[in-house]
Amino acid sequence: MTTRKMQAALWYGPEEIRVEQIDIPEIRPNEVLVKIGTALTCGTDFKLFRRGHALLVKNLPSPFGHEMSGTVVEAGSEITRFKAGDRVVAANSAPCGHCFFCKKETWNLCENLEFLNGAYAEYIRVPAQIVAKNLYHIPDSLSFREAALTEPLACALHCIEKVGLKAGETLCVIGAGPCGLLFVQLGKLLGARVICVGRGDEKLQVAKKLGADHIFSILEEGVIRDRVRKVCPGGYGPDVVIEAAGQPATWEMSTELVRKGGRVWLYGGCSQGTKVTFDTHRIHYDEICISGVFHHTPTHFARSLSYIAEKRIDVTHLIAGERRLSELNQVFCKNVPENPLKIAIIP
Ligand SMILES: [Zn+2]
Ligand SMILES: [Zn+2]
Repeated sequence: MTTRKMQAALWYGPEEIRVEQIDIPEIRPNEVLVKIGTALTCGTDFKLFRRGHALLVKNLPSPFGHEMSGTVVEAGSEITRFKAGDRVVAANSAPCGHCFFCKKETWNLCENLEFLNGAYAEYIRVPAQIVAKNLYHIPDSLSFREAALTEPLACALHCIEKVGLKAGETLCVIGAGPCGLLFVQLGKLLGARVICVGRGDEKLQVAKKLGADHIFSILEEGVIRDRVRKVCPGGYGPDVVIEAAGQPATWEMSTELVRKGGRVWLYGGCSQGTKVTFDTHRIHYDEICISGVFHHTPTHFARSLSYIAEKRIDVTHLIAGERRLSELNQVFCKNVPENPLKIAIIP
């Protein structure tokens, strides 16, 4: 076991990844070893690629990639729920269950979330905490590619649940990347009128195909507020804005677009230390609710997998192509656009 090698991508620093031969990880009695079937690229990975990531990079070089599905090849001696040959999807974290935040049932804020990275590899060791709380069998009807979308959809479900979106409300999604497109679908599923504001005509057309009632290009900056308001009931603006672009300018724009008394959910993370400016008059007199939202919980992860299995969400439009792991440098390259659609990475 110890001498066996595998291909894995490692992050060495901003815009520098290498696919190398490293040892296949050894597992402890309460862990499993998974052979990756499909890994999916994610906006977070592109952020990590460009500038590193405070939560995800612990040591250099760092494994990366966190959306994955595959097959158990080895289960530790204490594992009873999984055996070699099982098709599984693993979350990229699991809450400890006993810290201050877990006791308050805010599992996504757990102090002991250990992030699992290393999906861009042939094999991954799934740590005990995730095996115990956040590893799932994949229904036979699902491909690895579909199952690997469980993680991003779990994050989106967690957000949309907090939003408390009601049928008939107007939701404006800022961002037409994979997350934005998930919000478009969830909004429609909940019976909302959905507006998508994004960059890139191709992605906006996908938003339209997935049910967006109105699409607007963010490039029309000066006029975007008027245009969005015009298509909302009474011309007041959307009831809810979800920012899924992770840009300071669109964080600020969110508070300007939302209607009086509306809710703004800031889902897209900006780089550490970023500051934005809000008009206090607007927030106070117009009673704008602003909240951040982060990550997922095991409940949302399980629910996400069943949404995908029940085909309630169209996942195929979110994945633009497929590449081999050895070609990862062509996916993560210097000129990659902001927030691209997903690429399936096959070892
Ligand atoms: Zn992700
Ligand atoms: Zn905890």
